[in-house]
Amino acid sequence: MHEFPITQQIIKIAEKHATELCASRIKSIKLVVGDYSGFIGDSIQMYFDVISEGTLCEGAVIEIEHRKPKLRCTGCGELFERELLSFSCPTCGETGEPTEIGKEFYIDSIEIEKE
Ligand SMILES: [Zn+2]
Repeated sequence: MHEFPITQQIIKIAEKHATELCASRIKSIKLVVGDYSGFIGDSIQMYFDVISEGTLCEGAVIEIEHRKPKLRCTGCGELFERELLSFSCPTCGETGEPTEIGKEFYIDSIEIEKE
C-alpha cells in the first residue's frame, strides 16, 4: 500500500516539471525500480491511473525499468546477480555482499507535450 504516497509524489514532481516547461500534458514518466526497493511497479501504475485524473499526468504512460539486485564479491570485487539460494561469486566462488544496486527508486525521465 505504500505505493500510494509515492505515486502522489511522482505526480507532484512531474506536474511541477511540466508546469515549469509550460507543457500541455505529460506523455510518459520513466521510473527506475529496483527489485529490492520495496515498491511494486504494477501498483504504482494502478494508483497512477486513479490519482492522475484531472492533472497534467492524466493518460500518461508509466514506463518501469526494473533493476536486478547485485552483490559485490568480497574476493575479486566483481558485481554479480545472485543465483537462488547462493551468494557465491560466479568468477571466484567467494561470498558476495549486498550493494545498493537493486534498491533504486527514482524518476529517470519525464516526457512532455507542448501545444
Ligand atoms: Zn569473485
